[in-house]
Amino acid sequence: MTVTTRTTERTAPGRTSLRRRSRLRRLATSVLLSAGLCLGTLTAAGPAQAVDGTVVTSTQSGGRTVSFTFDDGPDPTHTPRLLEVLRRHGVKATFCLWGDHVRQYPHLVRQIAAEGHRLCNHTMSHQDMGGWSQQQIRQNLEQTNNLIRQAAPGAQITYFRAPYGNWGQSPQVAASLGMQPLGWRLAINDWQPPGTGELVRRIMQGVTPGAVVLMHDGGGDRSQTVSAVDQTIPQLRAQGYSFDQPAVR
Ligand SMILES: [Zn+2]
Repeated sequence: MTVTTRTTERTAPGRTSLRRRSRLRRLATSVLLSAGLCLGTLTAAGPAQAVDGTVVTSTQSGGRTVSFTFDDGPDPTHTPRLLEVLRRHGVKATFCLWGDHVRQYPHLVRQIAAEGHRLCNHTMSHQDMGGWSQQQIRQNLEQTNNLIRQAAPGAQITYFRAPYGNWGQSPQVAASLGMQPLGWRLAINDWQPPGTGELVRRIMQGVTPGAVVLMHDGGGDRSQTVSAVDQTIPQLRAQGYSFDQPAVR
């Protein structure tokens, strides 16, 4: 699981075409509006929050901010440690969860939500959806969301992230379910732990204003990631960075 992640969770392909589709959709919406349909009719069957199918890779506020995102949990060992570190530093992050892990550790999902972090659907068991039909994707995403909602009733599931960054048709499906497709600008390749110092170096040298950073709290021994997060938060703040959540469009 973690090995295949290495080559594929680096880029977010399809951004340009998604932008184009998004523009087309906006155009179609304005045509419909000018045809006399009211906005209420258009949005009545959709999600409460307006979300488009663009894969976002930047923070909500931009400027000298950064968003930390953690994939493949919740993990019974490393997620609680990470939550403790984030709490101690007063940082809110985003957690991209597997449905199978949510089913195993629902109390951790409740804790993540209760501590003010954002939730992200990361499929049931890290399936590569690159070649899936919209119906197959929808079924998987809804199953995952149902488990998250059972674990943390009332919690908002703000984002969806495709395993391996292999988006296929998933951005449109995620958007139709009210979830913002969430990519990243910096991956520190922490799935093969290279030492805490090296992870710290990769974050500090790779970070850019407004970046969404991809890290992992599940799928293996994530002690080095947790330590690197603990060390980099004060270093980033010393450089004038503040912490933000990924954009929702
Ligand atoms: Zn993943």
